[in-house]
Amino acid sequence: MSGEGDAPQAIRKLRPGKLVIASHNAGKVREIEALLGPYGVQPVSAKALDLPEPEETGTTFVANAELKALQAADLSGLPALADDSGLCVEALGGEPGIFSARWAGPDRDFRVAMELVERNIAATGPHPPRDAHFVCALALAWPDGHVEWFEGRVDGTLVWPPRGDKGFGYDPMFVPNGHEQTFGEMDPDAKHAISHRADAFRQLVAAVF
Ligand code: IMP
Repeated sequence: MSGEGDAPQAIRKLRPGKLVIASHNAGKVREIEALLGPYGVQPVSAKALDLPEPEETGTTFVANAELKALQAADLSGLPALADDSGLCVEALGGEPGIFSARWAGPDRDFRVAMELVERNIAATGPHPPRDAHFVCALALAWPDGHVEWFEGRVDGTLVWPPRGDKGFGYDPMFVPNGHEQTFGEMDPDAKHAISHRADAFRQLVAAVF
């Protein structure tokens, strides 16, 4: 039961041991290994456990991260971590948002996705705002159904034409606030220090260890 006056729920701690990374992306699993290894976490990929990839039917980043983490924890009997991320453009009411990957079409062509963003912004009228932000939601789930979640964010401006080939996705058109270079032009270490993913992981590490 919850209600006014109840003490806030304590955040559940993550003990050293196996943690399923509910992603079939080998790059993400490696990145998470580097971030959480020092805390005694041994990441195991969903692919190594042959877990299915659930359909992302949620309407928010957190909901999609949560459904992926819960399914992996339930099927594996281990704690599981999942993420969901994307680009939210203010002039487009937050689109593409949770559909960021899908805007790149079946070929996952982000040149096409960036052109679509640019065309849609231009179609909103003269001098549209060019603010945007990346979001990264992380959900950490246990086999008993308990979930902790964290949401990171980085704010910036969209430029056209896209610049740089160091990043991925929408990086070449995103200049984080306080910087001149796009995420596509920045050294990966510089991006990783300020990104939405770094922000979410900082919150997770501070809360669960
Ligand atoms: P997902 O969370 O793996 O489903 O990724 C969603 C999509 O968001 C990616 O395919 C990218 O298009 C976009 N995205 C998420 N994070 C970044 C980023 O750091 N840079 C550029 N694009 C990103």
